[in-house]
Amino acid sequence: MKLIILGAPGSGKGTAATVIREKYSLAHISTGDLFRYNIKEQTKLGIEAKSYIDRGALVPDDVTIRMVADRLGNDDCKSGYILDGFPRTTAQAKALDELLAKTGDKIDAVIHVITDDDIIMDRVTTRRVCEKCGASFNVKYMPSKVEGVCDVCGGKTVMRSDDNPETVGKRLETYKENTRPLIDFYNARGIIVEGNNNVDSATCIKSIEDGLARLNLN
Ligand code: ADP
Ligand code: ZN
Repeated sequence: MKLIILGAPGSGKGTAATVIREKYSLAHISTGDLFRYNIKEQTKLGIEAKSYIDRGALVPDDVTIRMVADRLGNDDCKSGYILDGFPRTTAQAKALDELLAKTGDKIDAVIHVITDDDIIMDRVTTRRVCEKCGASFNVKYMPSKVEGVCDVCGGKTVMRSDDNPETVGKRLETYKENTRPLIDFYNARGIIVEGNNNVDSATCIKSIEDGLARLNLN
């Protein structure tokens, strides 16, 4: 099964993707995580990407598409995957179609996570992530047992450099302009599955699972 998960930055798509990937045994491909890994390792790709990410802008399509194409060639993708954070532009969606067509593959469903802007702003600016293992916490809603320390690995929890209110605002604008049109692009194929994440992620994930079942995906 090949899935895409779409939603505004901070809508909770990463959390939903983690549950869905476990349930259906999929590889989880997060372009944000791939970029952050490259930034940490100070690769050429990471250094280029950082300047865009810190402004709340998108990393250029050619760089992003090459990175994803490369990742999809890994063995763990053979039995299916969930793409989290890609495609984010119409050009990326078209490039993905072309890539899949080469092997006669297609995307089975596109999960759309819906969350209101004011809820996103509140959740993202209070989010903390573990520097070491990437686990996510929230000082208001899901604090770690000891402030600043990861429950999972004992690493340090920090604010992501792009989680300040100004950059979050930019990321929301970028989403509306570049990524939201993809909902119509995939809706035309009848493969959109919705989950509303305004209340909690359990409710959101339940409706995603029901939606996938309606498309006979399991
Ligand atoms: P969020 O969805 O919460 O904004 P991500 O971790 O998915 O966070 O992405 C962080 C940043 O990485 C984005 O704001 C953007 O700058 C960059 N990025 C991630 N995926 C893409 C993509 N497909 N195309 C271009 N830039 C991307
Ligand atoms: Zn950790």
